[in-house]
Amino acid sequence: MKIYLNGDFVEKEDAKISVFDHGLLYGDGVFEGIRLYDGCVYKLDEHLERLEHSAKAILLDMPMSRAEFAEAVCEACRQNNLKNGYIRLIVTRGPGHLGLNPDGCGPQSVIIIADNIQLYPEELYENGLKIISVPTRRINASALPPAVKSLNYLNNILAKIEAKRVGFLEALMLNDKGEIAECTGDNVFIIRKGVLYTPPLDAGSLRGITRAAVMELAEGMGIQVKEQALTRYDLWISDECFLTGTAAEVIPCVEVDHRPIGNGKPGTLTQKLIDLFRESVKSDGTRLDG
Ligand code: PMP
Repeated sequence: MKIYLNGDFVEKEDAKISVFDHGLLYGDGVFEGIRLYDGCVYKLDEHLERLEHSAKAILLDMPMSRAEFAEAVCEACRQNNLKNGYIRLIVTRGPGHLGLNPDGCGPQSVIIIADNIQLYPEELYENGLKIISVPTRRINASALPPAVKSLNYLNNILAKIEAKRVGFLEALMLNDKGEIAECTGDNVFIIRKGVLYTPPLDAGSLRGITRAAVMELAEGMGIQVKEQALTRYDLWISDECFLTGTAAEVIPCVEVDHRPIGNGKPGTLTQKLIDLFRESVKSDGTRLDG
């Protein structure tokens, strides 16, 4: 496996960064997770735009232009002969002093890993996932906007650990008002009486690329889409529920906090959206050979 590291492609074993890198010491950096489908990097421009926004929010200067990042991402796939895969693009503040002060940091570290991913077994796409809400709340936007896809994922990792300790694969995270924010790595949707609902971004959700794609697909199906504050109760009494994310794609959710959703099986609209999403990813992106 060849890893992109600061302009070069190096073997996995040689892909090393400084222990003084503030990405390691403090989680000071930003990242994106991107999919490659059939030789096409899915929504690459949208991912690079979000990366730029995350970097701007944490006052991190981008060391490369969007076009340079795009080319490096495509080249990482080519170097590894991938036609399908998962790409992790990371920009850190770079090596610096041991203190928090980022002034002495640099140059930024740019890492691109192009590999494979299977977040959940196929069986769960057919039978659905069970999720549980956890005590750890999604971090408040006044502390660190959840819209920033930073390397600081401890908040979500703690929630994930709490869910796993009680036997669940994914955690439902609430914001400090007790509203639904998102899952640890996925956005949340419900369907009730034919209307599709998802929490607004200011509830503490990431501006998910898959979220936006699914909202567009649903509108194309003639489904009304509403961004609205949701409570756990709204999820419990929903007809259908599903999660969206780059790695998870669209996955049905059939139980929330021990309450079965609908008839306890993946919903028909959810199934339709999964099919449409899987179809759409084949054509909506940047071709490696383009
Ligand atoms: N929320 C969080 C916290 C995430 O890490 C992710 C995955 N990037 C998502 C939502 C889903 O976003 P996307 O569809 O862009 O992958």
